[in-house]
This record gives sequence, C-alpha cells and structure tokens, in this order.
Amino acid sequence: TMAAGDAVHVGRRRHVLLFPLPYQGHINPMFRLAGLLHARGFAVTVFHTQLNAPDPARHPEYRFVPVPNGSPVPVAIEDVVAHILELGRACEAAFRDRLASVLEEYSRDTVACLVADAHLLPIFEAAARLSVPTLALRTGSAACCACFLAYPMLFQKGYLPVQESQRDMPVLELPPYRVRDLLVIGEDGGGLARELITRATAAVKTSSGLILNTFDALERRELEGLRRDLAVPVFDIGPLHKFSPAGDSSLLLPDRSCLEWLDAWPPESVLYVSFGSVACMSARDLVETAWGIAGSGVPFLWVVRPGMVSGPADHRQQQLPEGFGAATHGRGMVVTWAPQEDVLGHRAVGGFWTHAGWNSTVESICDGVPMLCSPYFGDQMGNTRYVEHAWRVGIEVGGNIERGSVEAAIFRLMTHEDGAQMRTRAGELKKAAAECTAEGGSSCLAVDKLFTHMMSL
Ligand code: UDP
Repeated sequence: TMAAGDAVHVGRRRHVLLFPLPYQGHINPMFRLAGLLHARGFAVTVFHTQLNAPDPARHPEYRFVPVPNGSPVPVAIEDVVAHILELGRACEAAFRDRLASVLEEYSRDTVACLVADAHLLPIFEAAARLSVPTLALRTGSAACCACFLAYPMLFQKGYLPVQESQRDMPVLELPPYRVRDLLVIGEDGGGLARELITRATAAVKTSSGLILNTFDALERRELEGLRRDLAVPVFDIGPLHKFSPAGDSSLLLPDRSCLEWLDAWPPESVLYVSFGSVACMSARDLVETAWGIAGSGVPFLWVVRPGMVSGPADHRQQQLPEGFGAATHGRGMVVTWAPQEDVLGHRAVGGFWTHAGWNSTVESICDGVPMLCSPYFGDQMGNTRYVEHAWRVGIEVGGNIERGSVEAAIFRLMTHEDGAQMRTRAGELKKAAAECTAEGGSSCLAVDKLFTHMMSL
C-alpha cells in the first residue's frame, strides 16, 4: 500500500475534483471516497450545488467550489427523478466556467481527474469538453448497475413496461430479480425514468472508470457481469464507510444522545428503525408503523425526520399517535436524525427496519445487523430482493403497512429462530467485508488499482 503523500507528480501534489449529487445517500459515499483519496495524498476539490451544500468548516482539508443550480429549483423535491435530471442541466454552464478557472489556477497537469456522480451526465460532458478525464461514482449496487445497462434488453424482451400480470415473473437474465424488483417503468413508458437510466448509463460508458460502493464477497457474480459488459474498468472499493471516517457529511444534525441511551440495553435487543433521507410515508402508515412497533414490545430507536410524512404542508408535523409515548415509555427513543453508522455498530442493536437504500443496506450488512425491508422506490425493491433472497439476511415487510403484520415481522426478526439465522448470516458477511477491506483484501487491492489508474489518466 502507498502511504499518504504519494499522489505527487513531478514534485507537485495531484488534485482530484469531485462533484456529488446533492442527496444524502449520494453525498455520504462521495465524501467517504474523498477521505480515502485525501489519505492517499490527493488534494481534494469539491464542486457542489447550493442545494444541500456541504459545510466547509467541517472539512477544512478540502477546497469547496459552489456551483449555482438555478434557484429556486423548479420541481417538487418529491419528484426525485425529475429533480435529478433538472439539477444536472441547471448546473452545467456554471460548472464549466468554474472548472475552467480551477484548471487555470491549478496548473493543468496536476489535475488527475474529476469523479462525479453517475447521475450528472451534463457534468461529465462539460469536463470532457475541457479535456478533464472523468470517473463515475455509482452509489447503488453492482446488481442495480447491471440492471440499468440491461434496460434496452428488458424492453426488447417484453419485461417492460410492466404489465400488472407479470410483476412476479422472474427476470431470467438478471437473477434473482423479478419484474417487480426492477426500477419499475409503468405502462406510460416511464419517460423520465428511462431518461435517467439512459443518461446514467451514458455517463458510466463515457467515463474512464466506474467506482462502486460494493465488495467482491457480496456481489462477485454481478461484478463479473459488469466487467464483461463494460469497456471501462470497475473499481469495487466498498464498503466505503469502513475505509473513511464517519458522520461528517450529514445534512441534518445527528442526535448522538441515542448512543448513550443504547448503552443501557443488552446485546442485540434493540430494533433500529429508519427509512433514510428521502422516503415519505402517509400519515396513516406512520400510525400503523407506530402501533406495530409499540405492539411488538421490543426496545426501539426510531428516526422520524422532518418532512417524513407526506401530505399538505400543514399536515406534515410528524404526529405520532396520541398515547404512543405513554405506551412505549422507557423502551423507545425517537430522534430526528441518528448517527447511523455508530448506531448500527452498537452492540445493543439487533435489527434494522430499513427502506433498503443501498447505503443503509451495506452499512447494516457490514455491522452484521439483519433487516426488515420496506422498499419505497428506485433501487430499494431490488436491494430488498437481494437481502431476502440472495444474502438471506432479512425479510420484506411489504404491501400495505398494518400494525399486526409489523408486529409479527418484528417478532420474527428480533425473537424468532429465523431472525437468529439471519443474524448469523449477516455476521458472516460482516466478517467477509472486513476481509475485503483488510490489507490484501479485494477492496483494498481495488483502491490501489484505482489510485494507480487515476495517476495514469
Ligand atoms: N443516515 C443517517 N442517519 C439517519 C438516517 C440515515 O446518518 O438517521 C445515513 C445513512 O447512514 C446512509 C444515508 O443516510 O449513509 C442514507 O442513504 P441510503 O442510501 O440508505 O438512503 P437514501 O436516504 O438515499 O434513501
């Protein structure tokens, strides 16, 4: 392994430029990558939108270059797909100007490359026009990436657009996915979703390499498939959070007092509940979730973030049902945001009820915590399929959320022999992940390769 300070070229420190997509689930892996590259001696410059801008004071070692994303952003935040497409377009011209000044300032041959989120195709195009090599960071799984690449085939073979009667049909070319596990495109042909997929695929293919937050022991077959199908090198350097210091890129302030609260509970007794940074539930589902948790009798730590309940603005106060506090007194804690990595690493946590966002899934697996998965959208259904069917470290709590089924699922995970077996398998994956990130492990070797590749661009 190379030591810090090695990213030096003819006596000058090399620069790496980064551009994350401004969503929490995309910011975290990009900042973890930044930490990794910085430790290898790169000077790090982060281009970022004004929306969800990082706090430079929290990262004095990096340089930050704000890029206006046009304000106000003209689409509702709920419409994530449209919003992502709009962001890239809105930033393109301003990014190009700022990139040009940065290149002038840093003497050009010291800039190794730009690593941008694969959802920002206009940023890749702008960099290419200024002859800056690019690497694409995809923050989902290798399986999800393979699925994106396969979309033309999925249409050609008639899996898509989804017919209601075919939802349970296996996608033979992409096991263990069924049609329902895909980033589903309905009968309207899914104009925007298709555009998102096409553009992300184009970004990956036109880049000089693909970086994935996954690891060989978790997705060997999927990674092999990608390496067969893609002409660009693939760097499986996950789990990134085990390489890089934690918790410095949260958009909301994590409530660290929950860690002390957890200290009082026996090992593997507490259920951690969080549905990530974007997923919204209806007021009705919040009530069913609350009474399901209460009825299970299990100690819990629950993240109810501002804006998590959908509906008109004046209904958005997270009204936990009356009596919930009293019914769970002394056995539950509700926070607006948790230091999730530390929570999942805490010995008292024995299960995670998650929306199965990729970061949450990887973080849970790498701390040996089995899951209940309630997927909302995007790649979450596919991740759930892998959790339940490929790795067998969790089960889906799907469909209509009802307190009775919630209680039963919590019981199965936390108390039943089934849950114990899932915990054992998750423990094995935790060990495998640790081996991948240890010296000589696959992820560690992939980091070396990435570093060498970046120095050669
Ligand atoms: N997270 C956190 N505290 C919380 C909830 C989430 O720090 O209370 C972090 C979590 O560790 C993960 C990210 O936010 O790194 C969420 O990413 P994920 O891909 O799981 O879901 P998304 O928010 O993109 O839907």
